[in-house]
Amino acid sequence: MSSSLTSWVDINQQSDFSIYNIPFGVITSQGKTRVASRIGDYVIDLSSLFETTLLDGLGFDQSDFDSHKLNNLMLKGKQATRRLRNRLQELFQQENNELKGSENWVSKVLIPVDAVSMEMPVEIGDYTDFYSSIEHATNVGTMFRDPDNALLPNWKYIPVGYHGRSSSIILSGQEIHRPKGQQKPKDDEAPIFGPCKLLDFELELGFITYEGKPLGESISTAEANDYIFGMVLFNDWSARDIQKWEYVPLGPFLAKNFASSMSAWVVTLDALEDFRVAGPQQDPAVFPYLEFSGNQNIDIQLEVQIQPEGKEPSTVSQSNYKHMYWNQSQQLAHHTVNGCDIHAGDLYASGTISGPTRDSYGSMLELSWKGTNPIQLNDGSERKFIQDHDTVIMKGYCEKNGIRVGFGEVSTKVLPTK
Ligand code: CA
Repeated sequence: MSSSLTSWVDINQQSDFSIYNIPFGVITSQGKTRVASRIGDYVIDLSSLFETTLLDGLGFDQSDFDSHKLNNLMLKGKQATRRLRNRLQELFQQENNELKGSENWVSKVLIPVDAVSMEMPVEIGDYTDFYSSIEHATNVGTMFRDPDNALLPNWKYIPVGYHGRSSSIILSGQEIHRPKGQQKPKDDEAPIFGPCKLLDFELELGFITYEGKPLGESISTAEANDYIFGMVLFNDWSARDIQKWEYVPLGPFLAKNFASSMSAWVVTLDALEDFRVAGPQQDPAVFPYLEFSGNQNIDIQLEVQIQPEGKEPSTVSQSNYKHMYWNQSQQLAHHTVNGCDIHAGDLYASGTISGPTRDSYGSMLELSWKGTNPIQLNDGSERKFIQDHDTVIMKGYCEKNGIRVGFGEVSTKVLPTK
C-alpha cells in the first residue's frame, strides 16, 4: 500500500473519508432521499452522479441510487459494489477529468456534508450479536462467576452468539430514553420495577452481509469475506440490572432490545483489506470448519467518549478491533454451519471489544468494574454507568503509512425514562 492516491477534492489529512475509503450511506437533501458516498467533507450524491452517465456499464440502474436503503446495491453482489467503489475512486483521483471537468456536474454531485441529513442506510433483516472478545468474556466471567474459570467451557470452541432484534437498531444521532423493567436488587429481596439504574454501552463493530446461500447450505471461512459488504460502528446498549434478572435460562431479552446504535456510513470490506493483521493465537485448536488462512483480524482503532450535558466529551476507553479472538470469517462460518441462511442487509455485531488493559475495556461494567471503580470525567464528575443526558460517542479508524480510513462516529444521547 502506498499513499499515491490523491484527489481533486480537498481532503483534510485527519479525515476518516479519504479517497481510500469511499463508503456507502443514505442521505436526505432538499426533501429527496438517495444513496450516497462520501469524500472528505462532501457527500457524493450517487443519484445525481448516475444521471451524468459516468456510472454507466457497472450493472446499476437509476432506481438503485434513488432508493432509501442500500439493500438494492447489496443485492447486486460483491463484484458489482466493488466495481462501483473502484469507479468512484477513479473519478475522484487528481488526474481524472471526467467529473472534475464539468463544474455543473460537480456542483450537483458534491454536497457539503453539513447540508444533508443522514438516514438509516440499511433495511436490517436479521441481527446477530456475538461475544468474541476474550478480554471481555474473561472480565465478565471474573466479575460474575469464578476468576479461576472465567471462560465457560464452550467459549474457545464456539464463537458464542445469540439472535437479537433488528427493529430497535437506530442511527447515530437519534436519542434514546432510559429503559425501564424488572430488576432484583439483592439475592434475598423481591424484584422491583422501575428505570434501569445500570445503563451501559457496548463498544462494538458490526458487519453487514450480501445475499447468502439457500437454506441448508453453509459458507466456509474461505468464502466468508465474499459475503460481507461492509462494517459500521455499533453501540449495543445494555441494561445490566434488567439483564441480570431476566437472562436465566434463555439469555438476553429486554435488557438488550430497547436500542442499539449504528454509524451512518458503511465502510466496505474492500476499504479495510489493507489493514488486516493476524489475530490472537487460538488454543485449543479449532474444529476444521473454523480453521482459516491469512490475516483475518483488522487493525481498527476505537475510542469511547462520554459527554455530559453542556460539557466537553471525556475519553473513557481506547480499544482495537485487532484484539478479537474470533474473526468475522469464523463467525459467519459458524453461523451457517448448520445450514442457517443469511441475507442482504443482515447485521452481525462483534460483541463488546475490550482490549487487554484497564483503559481499553469496552463497557462501563468493565471500566468501573461493576461500579466499584468510578471513572473520572474531565468536568470532575464520576461515572459508574451512564446517566440521563449523557451522550455516548464512539469513533473508529484505521491508519497505516499515512493512509486513513475511518467510520466517523456513532453518537447517542440518553434521555430520562418515559
Ligand atoms: Ca453486544
